[in-house]
Amino acid sequence: MTFKRSALTEHFLTDLVEEAKQLLGQGKTADYIPALAAIDPNQIGIAVCFNDGDIVQAGAAQTPFSIQSISKLFTLVQALKLYQDELWQGIGREPSGHRFNSMVQLETDHGVPRNPFINAGALAICDRLQSRLSAPTFQLLELLRKLADNPALHANNQVARSELAHGSRNAAMAYLMKAFGNFSNPVEQVLHSYCHHCAIEMSCVDLAKASVFLANKGISFSGEAILSADQTTRINALMATCGLYDASGEFAYEVGLPGKSGVGGGIVAVYPGHFSVCAWSPELNPVGNSLISTWLLEQLTDRLEVSIY
Ligand code: GLN
Repeated sequence: MTFKRSALTEHFLTDLVEEAKQLLGQGKTADYIPALAAIDPNQIGIAVCFNDGDIVQAGAAQTPFSIQSISKLFTLVQALKLYQDELWQGIGREPSGHRFNSMVQLETDHGVPRNPFINAGALAICDRLQSRLSAPTFQLLELLRKLADNPALHANNQVARSELAHGSRNAAMAYLMKAFGNFSNPVEQVLHSYCHHCAIEMSCVDLAKASVFLANKGISFSGEAILSADQTTRINALMATCGLYDASGEFAYEVGLPGKSGVGGGIVAVYPGHFSVCAWSPELNPVGNSLISTWLLEQLTDRLEVSIY
């Protein structure tokens, strides 16, 4: 069936958000970063951005939240622009099948992270960015401000400090990569920028706008070429296979769109040729993906009969 844009209305999204309220209380907010555990869990938002920039939204779609691992999508964009295919020396493109912050494969894979969307891979990407950019966090913020058309975007320093203070696992992964010769910059410097990227705050509307170029062959809604069509297709392929950590297969099965999640409770998904969507609710399932955001996206794609497969 062909996608009918007229079915994706504010009314449709508002109904989904209302129905989703019955799932509140079934998940758990991320508590390994103490500043994230303090968030009000009873929030649900969703926003769709069509390729022409039109927005449809419902619930808390304009409330900024911690983007966390969704930042990995945009640091990959920056790194691909800077390195092109050279980027893949020392960073894999396979789903890990393990938790987002697992270290087990890093040892057996000789310090080469499985993909850029798990923590080890994103730390390697941040290391590459550190080598070529004078101020990686500022430059990421500038990219996001432009893509979301929101000059007010910023990182929450309290969340970044909280994560840095509890970031032994990420530090261990970075040092292990360094021991294998797959990490060039001082670990503490890279951790600092990585944590600030994760602590950037954006709303569903901001994130849907910022990722819509992935649905439009690399062209942003304001008409700017962000990546080539070829690079865009490949990022979508990585999102489809690796974007939801060890639930990537389940997400492909149930939602059927390339996606990227974060422990702040947001999930971005892309329907190439049509729209991007961001759902948000802070309570997570055991894998670390938002329980309600996953449900919202399942319902959206089921009811609209949208899937890339
Ligand atoms: N900042 C988080 C971490 O490094 C991001 C993890 C995530 O969103 N899955 O653990």
